[in-house]
Amino acid sequence: MIETTTLILAVIDGLYALAYLILAVVILRRRGWQQPGGDLLLLYLLTALLWTAGEAALLLVPLPIPAAEALRRALAYAPLLLAFLLLGLSGLFLHRRRCSWFCWLPGLVALLGIVILREGFPVLVGDRLLPGAQPIPWGALGQGAAALFWGVLTILAAVWTLRAYRRADRPLHRNRIVYWALVLALNVAGGGLSLTGLTAIGHGFYLPGTIVMAYALLTHSLPDVRRMARRFLAYLIVALLTAVLYAAVFWAGQALLHPAPGYGAVLAAVTTALLLALLVNPLLSRLQGTVGRKLGGAAYDPGQMLRQYSINISNIPDLDRLATVAVGLIGEAMEVRRGALFIVRREADEDGESYYTLRGVTGLGEDQPPGRIPAASPVAVCLAHERRPLSQYDIDLLPRFRGVAEEERAWWSSLRMDVYVPIYAQREWIGLLALGPKLSGDRYFEEDLRLLSTLADQTAVALQNARLFDDLRRRNIENERLNRELAAANEQLVRLDKAKSDFINIASHELRTPLTKIRGYNDLLAELIRHGSLTPESAEQMIEGVRGAVQQLEEIAKTMFDVSKIDTETLALNLWPTSLETVIQTVADRWQAALKERNLTLTTGGLMDLPTIIADGERLEQVFDHLLQNAIKFTPDGGKIRIMGRLRDEDRPPEEQEVEIMVGDSGIGIAPEDLKRIFEKFYRVGDVMLHSTGRTKFMGAGPGLGLTVVRGIVEAHGGRVWAESPGRDRSRCPGATFYVVLPCRPRQGSGPVKKRLVDDTTVGRRG
Ligand code: ADP
Repeated sequence: MIETTTLILAVIDGLYALAYLILAVVILRRRGWQQPGGDLLLLYLLTALLWTAGEAALLLVPLPIPAAEALRRALAYAPLLLAFLLLGLSGLFLHRRRCSWFCWLPGLVALLGIVILREGFPVLVGDRLLPGAQPIPWGALGQGAAALFWGVLTILAAVWTLRAYRRADRPLHRNRIVYWALVLALNVAGGGLSLTGLTAIGHGFYLPGTIVMAYALLTHSLPDVRRMARRFLAYLIVALLTAVLYAAVFWAGQALLHPAPGYGAVLAAVTTALLLALLVNPLLSRLQGTVGRKLGGAAYDPGQMLRQYSINISNIPDLDRLATVAVGLIGEAMEVRRGALFIVRREADEDGESYYTLRGVTGLGEDQPPGRIPAASPVAVCLAHERRPLSQYDIDLLPRFRGVAEEERAWWSSLRMDVYVPIYAQREWIGLLALGPKLSGDRYFEEDLRLLSTLADQTAVALQNARLFDDLRRRNIENERLNRELAAANEQLVRLDKAKSDFINIASHELRTPLTKIRGYNDLLAELIRHGSLTPESAEQMIEGVRGAVQQLEEIAKTMFDVSKIDTETLALNLWPTSLETVIQTVADRWQAALKERNLTLTTGGLMDLPTIIADGERLEQVFDHLLQNAIKFTPDGGKIRIMGRLRDEDRPPEEQEVEIMVGDSGIGIAPEDLKRIFEKFYRVGDVMLHSTGRTKFMGAGPGLGLTVVRGIVEAHGGRVWAESPGRDRSRCPGATFYVVLPCRPRQGSGPVKKRLVDDTTVGRRG
């Protein structure tokens, strides 16, 4: 005969089992196993179901004693298994990460250890290790280990939950974690009671905990806990105050009317009802309103806000001002910390792929980075077509947004906003109102989102106007820029035109001299032959003269050819380990005779200490040839020329080091306005016709191409060249200094020849 208490307990356990079964069926019917964590949840339910059904069977079915004992022992592991599964579910829910098998391994090993300790040891080892020794309390040891294991699992889950709550900075995310905290609390209570033997009461906590867990895991939008708590509190306060008021009225009626003659139940009821209807009811409805507003969270009046908003934002043509006013008004009313208005445009890239660009016009808070989201992205589809606000929480957690690309997801997160309200004009998505978290820490409720959608509709016309206005302004700015570029190009053209005519003058002048020489020698030769007076000496002299003139012509042609190579970016370099000292010495030797003739002193310094650099030695010879020739030409007789070298940035790694060669003279100097322009093609200071073809004569000049070639070659090496001088003065001779900086290891040239440097450079092969 079964006792009544046992029967009641068995029925309770049976009901629990039934509840778990129903829950499992509901989840299976909704295909819950397809959701993340659904399979683990079903395992959890199965464990709880078997546990409670087993408990009921133990109480109801008359099992043989060993079988009943075995079942009881097996059921004792259920709380451990549940805590273990709960930890796995916590990882999934809080971090959205499924634990790999080796995460489970330590827990499974521990569980196995406990089973062996409890079940295996008493059988294998017996209760005494040595005869006569103290009996070992395997049961108590196993119980302790189980409690410890359960405690560790629970603490771990609690720590994860707490950390996730601290990390979540958005109300909706926090709300979700609060649900998990509730799940955890109910499970801890259930587990604690079950471990102490109060299984039936324990399940009173387990079951609601499991229901909340299933709800939180499988549903996306969870009701706001804070709001529910506040509503409940408001209800409690109003109920209490109502009771107090009613009691006061009843008491006052009784006390005042009772002594009156003819007082009866009817009179008492009528007067009390009158008092309640006339005095207390209006008071109560006011009270309800105040408490509701104070605790309900709605700090603004939607109607008034809408009115104020539409008056303020109409007729604002300026985008920035529109953003400031629109976001400012909403921010103030809803007590929002951050907000921005985005201008949305649909564009297409070269491959024809459509995308939306979102340019932020900051309304509140810091500047927002511009975004580019593909038109096919789930978020874009939702915002462009569904005409309803979207929250960051949705983007983070809704299954339909799982396909959002990582880059786009990172952009949305970087905005640190809570809600996005799209703005449309003529069915086209043209703007986005983004709002950050509320100061109160509340989420955006349904009524907030409805109001925001209405405000977004109000913004559409103003935004479209402002967009047009902004386009116009941008076009104006663009036009101004183009105008400036046009003016600069025009100036350049004028200069080029002048350079061209200068070139024609210079070229005709430069070419005429050697040609005249050749013609002169030719005529003379013919004359001498005709008169039969040509001697070997005079023939030798004339041949020498023609050779000199031809060489001069060749030099001019070569320089012009180099300049054209620089212009057409076809100057190729043969890079090779090169000693700058050798290069400069070769050049100096070449000019020895001229230096002597003009009585100029050339000193060099620091060149020996320079490292070998990777460069085109022949081209560098050309560079220093031009520089030295210029120094000779623009320094009066008896002057001084110095060539100094040094290593720059010695602390840097060798591949980043540079060498600097300075060529200075005590010549006439260069005017500040010419310091840059002397490197331009055909540019030379002074009158074109003053040029002479003298290679080394004081103030003699060439076609104005030498420094152009110098710059072209240096820049092709990835180096730079510039001139410094206090000014041009023929009488005081302040001098000029040219600096050439070259990288020790070649880097991509920055000048016009860079392409060829990369394509055609042959490193390590000379010729
Ligand atoms: P050019 O063939 O006429 O010498 P460059 O390009 O070599 O052409 O030089 C351009 C101009 O720069 C020269 O006409 C001269 O006026 C000025 N210049 C170049 N080097 C010096 C220098 N060391 N001192 C003064 N002026 C110089």
